[in-house]
Amino acid sequence: MNRIMPWHQSLWGRLQEGRRRGQLTHAMLLRGRAGFGKRQFADAFVARLLCEGQEDFACGHCRGCALMAAGSHPDLCQVFPEEPGKAIRVDEIRGLIQYFALRSHYGGFKVALISPADVMNRAAANALLKLLEEPPAGGIIILLADRAERLPATIRSRCQQFPMDRVSGEELLAWDGLGGEVAQRAEAIARAGGSPLAAQSYADPTLATVIASLSQTMAAVLDGRTSPLAAATQYAKSELLLVIDQLLRLAHELLLLQQKAPLPLEKAGRRPAAGLQSLADQLDSVRIATFIQQLLATKQLRLSSPSLREVDLGESVWFDLKAMVG
Ligand SMILES: [Zn+2]
Repeated sequence: MNRIMPWHQSLWGRLQEGRRRGQLTHAMLLRGRAGFGKRQFADAFVARLLCEGQEDFACGHCRGCALMAAGSHPDLCQVFPEEPGKAIRVDEIRGLIQYFALRSHYGGFKVALISPADVMNRAAANALLKLLEEPPAGGIIILLADRAERLPATIRSRCQQFPMDRVSGEELLAWDGLGGEVAQRAEAIARAGGSPLAAQSYADPTLATVIASLSQTMAAVLDGRTSPLAAATQYAKSELLLVIDQLLRLAHELLLLQQKAPLPLEKAGRRPAAGLQSLADQLDSVRIATFIQQLLATKQLRLSSPSLREVDLGESVWFDLKAMVG
């Protein structure tokens, strides 16, 4: 269960101390740029709150942990947009208020996780504000926001705020999540715009293999040599967001090739993936654009709806791809 980042360890320790002393705040805002592990932190923290064991991390085998693993703990309410890319509406917050009207099922904390909190519309934010003004007994509301400045100041001021994206260059370079030599790590971090989790995917030696195979699998699915399900199985062990990002890149390259425009990687002296030009010649640009929209929607869904099974989303990606040829 301990998947939190080294730069979050001291905060974790302080919060566990607060939990043992019964001094946790009822509203927490985990804020900061994406790619620093705040979602992992929130998931681990929620799991610990609902675990019935005594350790600093969730034990993984008690009743609370079993219910968490099954995605059906009655003392956890997750709030996210009904549709990816849409706002969190007042109905979702009303559901949260009803949830807090009931007592905890097992006598422990009653937890709510709102993510991404920065997409609440005004009515939803007002309803949440009322809840924060009269905090429910035993309730802990956790808000996650990449862009917390979009939240009303009234909401922010009622939460204890934790910036999650502060990490020194030394801490980053020392992180064992990045393999390779220091120079390679530094390059991966720079390419990832300073985000350690994005850097991790750049530094991953299997990434190059995944990238190299994706364009071939794409072609095989499109001409019927591979089924969408077989393709989904092939990449089931790869991070879905990584696969989506690479398919997005390939789809954009297809559009560029159709327009006879230079590809970004050609400027860097690398050649396009084999077979990409012949795919570009066969495919309809409107359908490629539709596929890009679908990829973006699936990506948003993956980010905003943690309860969805990654394997289902992975399959939909490959069926959407197949739809490009009818
Ligand atoms: Zn447990």
